[in-house]
Amino acid sequence: MKQQYEIVVGLEVHLHIATATKAFCGCKNEFGLKPNSGVCPVCMGFPGSLPVLNEKYLEYAVKTALALNCKISDKMKFDRKNYFYPDLPKNYQISQYDMPLSEAGLLEIIAKDAAPKKIRIKRVHMEEDAGKLLHEEDNITRVDFNRSGTPLLEIVTEPDINSPEEAYAYLLTLKNLLEYLEVSDCDMEKGSLRCDANISIRPAGQAALGVKVEVKNMNSFKGVRAALEYEQKRQESLAQDNEKIIQETRLWDSDKKITQPMRTKEEAHDYRYFPDPDLVPFEIDPALIKKIKNNMPQLPAEKKKQIIKDYGISEYDAGILISDKAMAEYFLKCAQSYNQPKIIANWIISEILKYLNSKNMEFRYFDLPPAHLTDMLKMMDSGKISGKIAKDVLSDMITSKKSPQDIVKEKGLLQISDETELRAVIKAVLRQHAQVTKDYKSGKEAALSFLVGQAMKATKGKANPGMVNKLLKEEMGNI
Ligand SMILES: [Zn+2]
Repeated sequence: MKQQYEIVVGLEVHLHIATATKAFCGCKNEFGLKPNSGVCPVCMGFPGSLPVLNEKYLEYAVKTALALNCKISDKMKFDRKNYFYPDLPKNYQISQYDMPLSEAGLLEIIAKDAAPKKIRIKRVHMEEDAGKLLHEEDNITRVDFNRSGTPLLEIVTEPDINSPEEAYAYLLTLKNLLEYLEVSDCDMEKGSLRCDANISIRPAGQAALGVKVEVKNMNSFKGVRAALEYEQKRQESLAQDNEKIIQETRLWDSDKKITQPMRTKEEAHDYRYFPDPDLVPFEIDPALIKKIKNNMPQLPAEKKKQIIKDYGISEYDAGILISDKAMAEYFLKCAQSYNQPKIIANWIISEILKYLNSKNMEFRYFDLPPAHLTDMLKMMDSGKISGKIAKDVLSDMITSKKSPQDIVKEKGLLQISDETELRAVIKAVLRQHAQVTKDYKSGKEAALSFLVGQAMKATKGKANPGMVNKLLKEEMGNI
């Protein structure tokens, strides 16, 4: 019988922290500046310059660690991680080795079609980012040091993830939490959130871990999932053939959809970590931790409970709404001005998400004023426009930025509820479809919806469907 294998994954997320200034100097922490314009002797690694820890960075780091249920260390220190690379002018990176900011956290995830699972967070530590090499078209590589010294958090899980789908769910849950914390823009395209994965396989039931392969260069959550799926297959097929799995770092090629060897993996001792003598070990003031705890924003799990309790939204729909902070806020704003939260939730989850998906757009860029949506829903509620017209008005509002009142007025979309007018339309429909009318009268119920459809078509969707139904039955009774 073929040996069954279990996949074991640990994820390392590098998160760019959105402070105003860099981790250890006063330079602007901003993406997109002119190359090498946001630098100073500290982040350029000039001899004799001294780093000073940014207090806001520490605060955001503590906030994140607490939200991940980590234990904040009593005493922490910074270490030098030594290596040479052209984008690292000091030849070391300020990081944390044996006394990190925090350890032993937990994050609960729900993978597709699975029960909730708790993923242990091994540690959350602080470290500075390196500069950036720009491999340009003239075959010259240039270096931009604007990013060097910008604040990062490294969030490392225990090897608790057992499928590519779980890894994907972990990343989505983490990103969602981080958005609520407002410590990072979490924009993968800007490199604000980067993820490396350690993956190994072991025979099902075996406790010892297999040989670990590190996969890098995945620039989307879907990319992480695809890379892990590929790597799982690759390692399983090596194991089935009794071939050795090598401990190494591999790069994900998103075009070819394969991983390729990059280098054999360094061990921690290769970096010759040692305490940074410029930054002495220190204790975090318990009063600061208390202050951060007391000012913690509402996190996704609490927001979900609130939406279920205060607005009567189903657990499933509330889960969708809170999965994006901007979407949850949009819902809450709408619910303040229109007392039909379920209708609002339905429109956001069905129509608006459908629109955003078709444009591949994130909710935070959706700029339809909440009042336009609720005004439109109120018009539908009071019978001024039909449900079908409402969908057209929504897409018109999104593109033209006009209010629903203006659109309805300009395009003459008011629902027709005038009995005389509708009766005339219906009579014409019945004349045109005499056979269908006969079918209905001889007991074929489905014929009615066809006739309703014809009446709606004749009025370009503006007829009041309830009245059409009623009048159709009446008129047919007269034939
Ligand atoms: Zn600087």
